[in-house]
Amino acid sequence: MKTLFLNPPSFDGFDGGAGSRYQARREIRSFWYPTWLAQPAAMVPDSVLVDAPARGLSVESVVKMAHGFELAVLHTSTPSFANDVRIAEAMKAANPKLMLGLVGAHVAVNPGPSINASTAIDFVANGEFDYTVQEIAAGKPLADVTGITYRADDKVIRNADRPIIEDMNALPSVIDVYRRDLVIEDYFIGYLEHPYVSFYTGRGCKSRCSFCLWPQTLGGHRYRTRSPEVVAEEVAKVKTYFPQVKEIFFDDDTFTDDLPRAEATARLLGKLGVTWSCNAKANVPYETLKVMRDNGLRLLLVGYESGNQQILLNIKKGMRVEFARRFTADCHKLGIKIHGTFIVGLPGETRETIEETIRFAQEINPHTIQVSLAAAYPGTSLYKEAQENNWLRRPAGDVVANDGLQISSLEYPHLSHQEIFEALATFYKRFYFRPRKIGEITWEMLQSWSMMKRRLREGAEFFQFLRQRNDAS
Ligand code: SF4
Repeated sequence: MKTLFLNPPSFDGFDGGAGSRYQARREIRSFWYPTWLAQPAAMVPDSVLVDAPARGLSVESVVKMAHGFELAVLHTSTPSFANDVRIAEAMKAANPKLMLGLVGAHVAVNPGPSINASTAIDFVANGEFDYTVQEIAAGKPLADVTGITYRADDKVIRNADRPIIEDMNALPSVIDVYRRDLVIEDYFIGYLEHPYVSFYTGRGCKSRCSFCLWPQTLGGHRYRTRSPEVVAEEVAKVKTYFPQVKEIFFDDDTFTDDLPRAEATARLLGKLGVTWSCNAKANVPYETLKVMRDNGLRLLLVGYESGNQQILLNIKKGMRVEFARRFTADCHKLGIKIHGTFIVGLPGETRETIEETIRFAQEINPHTIQVSLAAAYPGTSLYKEAQENNWLRRPAGDVVANDGLQISSLEYPHLSHQEIFEALATFYKRFYFRPRKIGEITWEMLQSWSMMKRRLREGAEFFQFLRQRNDAS
């Protein structure tokens, strides 16, 4: 079947793409690559991948595309679900013969309610969807495809689940799809060099953080990986296809979950002479950090979440604050930059723990930070815990406001959702508006004209973001 893979248009600047962990409008223009959709797109001949938010495509232009295809696979998320269903309905109205399926974490954990949301939806994928979609696109009857919930006349039928993929090397590279269908300059992440390319070299994370969406929905808790040699081949391909790329980001949940593999991969990357970065937990030993640094590692994206030990225990982070301190000091010593991510409003949060975490962030001083509001996504143990304890302020799904900005979906008897919401801006201001940080950023801007232009644009976007939040509150 002639197949369209679509990341649908959404709120202005909405980053809900497959690589995005927090689907929301960002503080500054940011887009992750639609890596999850690109994978089956690499397995379906003559398919087309359209990433509407990153391309700035309108709903009308996307709906028009419905005519040229027999199958459309839309990636959806909890915050964008209602909007994505409306787009699915408009596409079906434009081309009633179009078979239409939804994929992603939201439908994987809510297959029944998701397919019942509209008769325009023919199937939803119940988990990893690469081979599922490949089979459907090859014309296999829906009744024979494992891993889906589908519509047959007036009935909704859930087929047997599909086992998760074990042989990650067997999946074709997404880099060919990036070259075929994407404009890599569309993809911005504030802390990565531009243009960058990101993709997965493995799926799953060994940790069990209660809020974390992907391992609890699509990826699982075993880190399933491609071999270092296959990763190096993909990176070599990036170099050949996109000589303008300045950095490669490995979007695996925790690239450092398998230390020997991380070191072996780093050594191969070193031979290729590329600059790269990845997600890491704050427990990587100095020796491994050094091997990675010596072989082109520029930056680590590290989820600290909180500076309060009890909160880390509450969310099952499997991390001690002292380890995080030592790890960060090691990275500073080695010259590895860190983008640190923090969350306000996790279980156990109080005004005092927010203060403690802000001070912790100031003390360890990552190069840049991202602060998110705790979001209880359906399918996570945090969501269950929030339901049981009556912490959910709004009905399920309201993790963003109508304009796509994140709102606090949780509140506690001792801490209102408004206080949690306001803490985010306070956190950013107290981290960035310090003489030390202002000095660091100014120095960085003075190093190059392109960095100067970029940081000025991001600064303007950041102040606009703060103003919009202010208005919203
Ligand atoms: S370590 Fe990171 S990716 Fe793994 S479960 Fe925790 S938050 Fe998610």
